[in-house]
Amino acid sequence: HHIVEVKNLRHVYPDGTEALKGVSFRIHHGESVAIIGANGAGKSTLLLHLNGYHSPTAGEVRIGDFLLSKGTLPGIRRTVGMVFQDPDDQLFMPTVYDDVAFGPLNLGLNGNELERCVADALERVGAAHLAAKAPYHLSGGEKKRVAIATVLSMSPDILVLDEPASGLDPYARRQLIGLLKEFRHTKIFTSHDLDLVLELCQRVILLKEGEVRADGPAAEILRDE
Ligand code: ADP
Ligand code: ADP
Repeated sequence: HHIVEVKNLRHVYPDGTEALKGVSFRIHHGESVAIIGANGAGKSTLLLHLNGYHSPTAGEVRIGDFLLSKGTLPGIRRTVGMVFQDPDDQLFMPTVYDDVAFGPLNLGLNGNELERCVADALERVGAAHLAAKAPYHLSGGEKKRVAIATVLSMSPDILVLDEPASGLDPYARRQLIGLLKEFRHTKIFTSHDLDLVLELCQRVILLKEGEVRADGPAAEILRDE
């Protein structure tokens, strides 16, 4: 059964830029897929369709049994956890704890249940010791891990990450790879880091100028590029 289905997806920005020109693919439960391609190929635009931030100019996006083509689905952010390229877009509370608690709090969690959920998410990204810190005091790698924790605390079925390794030093990058390997559900991410792609995914979708240029085994597609 497919957890993601994108069919003939087109996206035209208000200024007329056609960022996606009829993109189609399907992703199975538990698959790990990298979306690669040059700058401007349409990767970020595509990711923003997967949780309803964008609505299609034409075509369809399905997540599980739900059709997103008519816009944002209530609850979609619980199903699809989106990690932006810049963690500063995601961290806006006074403390790390508050940021990670924000989503579950909105879902109605409180008391011990909320505390356990936040502690668990921070634990999984190796950031338990940062709970009381102000997000803006963190290093780039720490911010990235906390941004991922804010999404993990919602227990998403699908984790979507835009350039997860960008700006990380080699040590932070290794930590990130480790934590992504431990996330057993569906993962979809963009990356220019081809070694990371090979380590984390079996499958690569190559975009070029808003179209799918190749879709198949990572090793094969990266060898041909
Ligand atoms: P990538 O993530 O692969 O670098 P993007 O999805 O960011 O590609 O961009 C795809 C195309 O859409 C590019 O030509 C880019 O300039 C254009 N684009 C992206 N965002 C906007 C926007 N808000 N308004 C107009 N054009 C945009
Ligand atoms: P729609 O759902 O109709 O696609 P969005 O909510 O995605 O509209 O976008 C609203 C406005 O924000 C648009 O003018 C769009 O160009 C702009 N926008 C959306 N995503 C980006 C982005 N990644 N970078 C810059 N501008 C963006």
